[in-house]
Amino acid sequence: MNKQKLAILGSTGSIGTQTLEMIRKHPDKFEVIALSGNSNWKLLVEQINEFKPEFAVIGDPAFYKEVKASVSGTEILVGPKNLPEMASHPNVDTVLNALVGFAGFESTLAGIHAGKKVALANKESLVVGGELIRKALKNSNSALIPVDSEHSAMLQCLVGESRGGIEKIIITASGGPFRELTKKQLEEVTVKQALDHPNWSMGAKITIDSATMMNKGLEIIEAHWLFDIPVQQIEPVIHPESIIHSIVTFTDGSSKAQLGLPDMKVPIMYALSYPKRYPLDIPRMDWSKAQELTFEPVDFNKFPCIRLALESIEQGGYSPAVLNAANEVAVERFLNKEIDYIHIPKIVEKSLANIHLSDSLNPDTLKQIDKETRRYAQSIIK
Ligand code: NDP
Ligand code: MG
Repeated sequence: MNKQKLAILGSTGSIGTQTLEMIRKHPDKFEVIALSGNSNWKLLVEQINEFKPEFAVIGDPAFYKEVKASVSGTEILVGPKNLPEMASHPNVDTVLNALVGFAGFESTLAGIHAGKKVALANKESLVVGGELIRKALKNSNSALIPVDSEHSAMLQCLVGESRGGIEKIIITASGGPFRELTKKQLEEVTVKQALDHPNWSMGAKITIDSATMMNKGLEIIEAHWLFDIPVQQIEPVIHPESIIHSIVTFTDGSSKAQLGLPDMKVPIMYALSYPKRYPLDIPRMDWSKAQELTFEPVDFNKFPCIRLALESIEQGGYSPAVLNAANEVAVERFLNKEIDYIHIPKIVEKSLANIHLSDSLNPDTLKQIDKETRRYAQSIIK
């Protein structure tokens, strides 16, 4: 069997390290061609010395010298400008995009233009540029496979089905750490509490997005572009146990769900093995034991971020990119303890109301709106 040749963007992050953990166990199936990190240069060096990629990108130029001096036989490139090149490199079959935020968009597009299989964890790519990504997919023989657990569940339910048979998609949400708090109590929550997710251990940005439920809003937009399904047919439901990762209901009233213990290795591996399955040595559900699977509706009043995300996709054009940029700024400021949790939706809402661009959508104008929104969001925080 030919080995799948991988470029892993964001290999030093939560998704990136879990991907390498699985690759380590399947040396017969995968070969690492390229890796990238941004600030965690020590981990990047360890990864380079273990996996011996052809090349690696260190995003932050401050660490170039250290990386260069600690490895041999791997070409070291410096700066995020090399990431799209990494995603379109001729020696690469599959791009696993585990970058966080808008920083991942250009590489997703580059991978698609180059006809690569793109395993996408970077949901922000589809949120900001879903329309451009869909267009690019039409003109390429690339495949875009989700890594996000809910979207992997949807894909697994949709294999063998026709689009016309789909009635709706139920996207499940854990509800995050603040599900049971009142609106009043949310005024007091700390960064530490927000980072303490009940079911998943993830990078800081997505953990905060889960606490505000912006994550579910981003994921509805992600599902819309991935599966070409109207947003009105995607229904979020709280499922605190995170065992059912999403459900598809068909026009004959039948529903399919994908289940499993919450473990990102499953959707990461499925994205790499799709349409096949490769063995994974992880704990299984014990179906012989009684267990409760519970559901409740989403409280849009308590978690306004999810409502704002839905409004942005309804407005279309640049609005989701504005939503995303304002959210990235707000989350970073919250993590730095410069604003409170309840300020996050306010900053997003204000940005959506005030930033507009009528130019036609393309990667350059997308960059422009991202930059402008960031500037605006920073200014209102001041
Ligand atoms: P992490 O923050 O753990 O990792 C992000 C990676 O991107 C790191 O390798 C980081 O480098 C690198 N990076 C960060 N900023 C930049 C930048 N500006 N330029 C270049 N590289 C950068 O994030 P996660 O792994 O948690 O998430 C990655 C993506 O996957 C996100 O879009 C997230 O929403 C999505 N996702 C994550 C899940 C999870 O379980 N973690 C689940 C579902 C989706 P360094 O650390 O060296 O600075
Ligand atoms: Mg998810």
